[in-house]
Amino acid sequence: MKISNAGIAGKPADCSRKNEGSRGVNMSDSYEFDNPCAGCGTAAEMDCSSCGTSDDMGCAGCGTAAEMDCSGCGTSADAGCAGCGTAPAAPACGTDDGSNCASCGADCSDRTQPQITKKPLNQMSSVDNVIAVVSGKGGVGKSLITAMMAVIMRRRGFRTAILDADVTGPSIPKTFKVTENATANDVVIFPVETKTGIQLMSINLLLEDATDPVLWRGPVIAGAVEQFWTDVLWESIDYMFVDMPPGTGDVPLTVFQSLPIKGIIVVASPQELVGMIVEKAVKMAEMMDIPVLGIVENMSYFECPECHGKHEVFGKSHVEEIAKKFNIPNVARIPIDPKLSAAVDAGMIELFDGDWLDSFADKIELQMKEGTAVN
Ligand code: ADP
Repeated sequence: MKISNAGIAGKPADCSRKNEGSRGVNMSDSYEFDNPCAGCGTAAEMDCSSCGTSDDMGCAGCGTAAEMDCSGCGTSADAGCAGCGTAPAAPACGTDDGSNCASCGADCSDRTQPQITKKPLNQMSSVDNVIAVVSGKGGVGKSLITAMMAVIMRRRGFRTAILDADVTGPSIPKTFKVTENATANDVVIFPVETKTGIQLMSINLLLEDATDPVLWRGPVIAGAVEQFWTDVLWESIDYMFVDMPPGTGDVPLTVFQSLPIKGIIVVASPQELVGMIVEKAVKMAEMMDIPVLGIVENMSYFECPECHGKHEVFGKSHVEEIAKKFNIPNVARIPIDPKLSAAVDAGMIELFDGDWLDSFADKIELQMKEGTAVN
């Protein structure tokens, strides 16, 4: 089996190191790479220019798959693949990968509505319900809510998984105190299981040192996330929660396009809910034709342990009003709770105590069972 080269941006090209593995990936010798230019160790656009060759869409020299290259350039081929140096017109619009047209501003004759090209799972895997957890910006508790939703579904007896797509800020393994590296055979990568049996895959499970920064360009990150979907053994999973990168950039767009996401959960702080940032996330989901299952207002209030009064430290709650505006029937409010941050810091989120998300999760379970969230 193969994993594409996710090199460290900025390293000089050194094609004599072809076929070396990606840094830190703990895999068997039989593991091959889509992109033999592991030696280049650079993000896709640098690989392309360093190899200097191109096939109709990608770099023949690099050996990368065409689609990786095009998204790798960070520009749609229509707009001119500066990094690859490939011919712009034919590959962009002549392919059946509509994602190029999605990001290309050119008004060419091949222009079509974005086609969603979902990536297939490997043959041994099955995932019934994929739910993406999104936020407009970082630090609002997206990873915490992802973890809590997975814990709740696991407590209900479902086979549950988390795909950590927040590649540059991966916090899921730490939240569950998972420190061992993922392993692989020549067919699949094995997820790491938490104490209660939640299956995890995160870039931090593939790095030698979890404190190493991931200095990859967006398209390489998107490629890694796609491989977390296609190459990991996801055995009979009922619920998979995808901890998305914050915002509405290139990586979330690719993940939305390539994974069969049945719905999204929007996480926001009270301040964010009054701004446009949440609206952008909701509108992005609408444009991708993915239903918004619910909104979680995190850090919504603080409950005084003495008098049990609720104090809205970040201002009045706006979650009901936003939910109404976008016709989203499912909302939850999570307080600022030092016990939650302590549970995250200790890697003990599986022991969290609190019913804030219970009825929220009930509704999502129902939507999934009835198929009402399915496009
Ligand atoms: P994001 O994924 O949006 O970047 P995180 O889930 O990593 O955000 O949360 C950022 C920090 O805030 C973490 O340390 C987390 O434990 C803490 N945190 C998030 N929500 C709460 C909350 N409701 N109460 C206490 N701490 C919280």
